[in-house]
Amino acid sequence: MKSYTELLKQINKATDNANIMVDELMENHTSFRVGGPADILVTPNDVLEVQALIKICKKYKVNYFLIGKGSNLLVKDGGIRGVVIKLCNLNKIEVEGNEITAQSGASLYDVTIAALDNGLKGIEFANGIPGSIGGAAAMNAGAYNGEMSMVLDSMLAIDNNGELLTIEKDEMELSYRSSAVLKYGYTVISVTLKLEVGDKAVIKARMDDLAKKRSDKQPLEYASAGSTFKRPEGHYASVLIQDSNLKGTHVGDAEVSVKHSGFIINKKSASATDILDLIKLVQDEVQEKFGVRLDTEVKIWGEDKEPFEGAASCEAGSTSEIGSSSY
Ligand SMILES: Cc1cc2nc3c(=O)[nH]c(=O)nc-3n(C[C@H](O)[C@H](O)[C@H](O)COP(=O)(O)OP(=O)(O)OC[C@H]3O[C@@H](n4cnc5c(N)ncnc54)[C@H](O)[C@@H]3O)c2cc1C
Repeated sequence: MKSYTELLKQINKATDNANIMVDELMENHTSFRVGGPADILVTPNDVLEVQALIKICKKYKVNYFLIGKGSNLLVKDGGIRGVVIKLCNLNKIEVEGNEITAQSGASLYDVTIAALDNGLKGIEFANGIPGSIGGAAAMNAGAYNGEMSMVLDSMLAIDNNGELLTIEKDEMELSYRSSAVLKYGYTVISVTLKLEVGDKAVIKARMDDLAKKRSDKQPLEYASAGSTFKRPEGHYASVLIQDSNLKGTHVGDAEVSVKHSGFIINKKSASATDILDLIKLVQDEVQEKFGVRLDTEVKIWGEDKEPFEGAASCEAGSTSEIGSSSY
């Protein structure tokens, strides 16, 4: 950590009341409940602090990683070398007419409730997704025939030089679980959604129905990051996994959920290594049986517990994607 002394000093200077943690375990910040220590984890309070942090990381050639609710992340047991910027304190939501502008750290739950309260429809699908609106925009999250691409109108973001920019819908490059945000390493500060006027009772009924579908079908009682794998073209990952007889297969406390084979769950005290080993086992079995290689939807970040000599290196102009790997 000695090389971070000056960096920490600068971060302290640039952020007024931000919570700054050193060697903070990422298991405390991910829905999988795994992940080793991040060198530095900062929770900025406003856009100026986020800009300053990005500029500082660039100046000191230190990687930075953006997290919302950590509900789509698998952080390895060796943790993260660099600065994790957690955006949960940027969480204001404003409604004007049929538009909602929400800061990136606002929970999808709060955004969907704001839509309901104002009789606006179109984002009911996101009600049970346990992420932030910024994470959902970055991931183009979707469920039950809905997707962020259907409601996003514009975003305020920061590029990896620390400069503010507005991203209009036609510049977002939204595709299945991907976006320009991930591709170019932008930091989403706020998003504006364009919704339609609807009947509150109908909106509420749809939200309740989807919540029930989720609790009936998904292992919500266990830690996970949702669907572990992307949907391969022409197939459903969960069906391929189920038909490979992998339901209930486990490595330590990491298990292919019996309730929903598309979810790998942490039953109690799985390590990230257990989960990664299980992911590989599933990928290999499905490939052998069906000739289809499953890619992870979950973002895999960080280092193994005992990195081999010289493995850690810092790069300039890091993005939210640096440090992630397709396992
Ligand atoms: C039980 C469960 C059910 C789920 N169901 C669904 C589902 O139905 N559909 C679905 O799509 N997903 C689902 N997920 C996955 C996850 O909730 C979504 O991908 C969610 O949108 C991630 O948001 P987050 O804030 O947690 O992002 P994080 O996990 O914190 O980050 C995910 C990615 O987004 C980036 N990111 C986060 N915030 C920002 C920002 N402000 N600016 C730029 N980049 C950012 C990160 O760098 C990372 O690359 C589920 C997860 C769980 C645990």
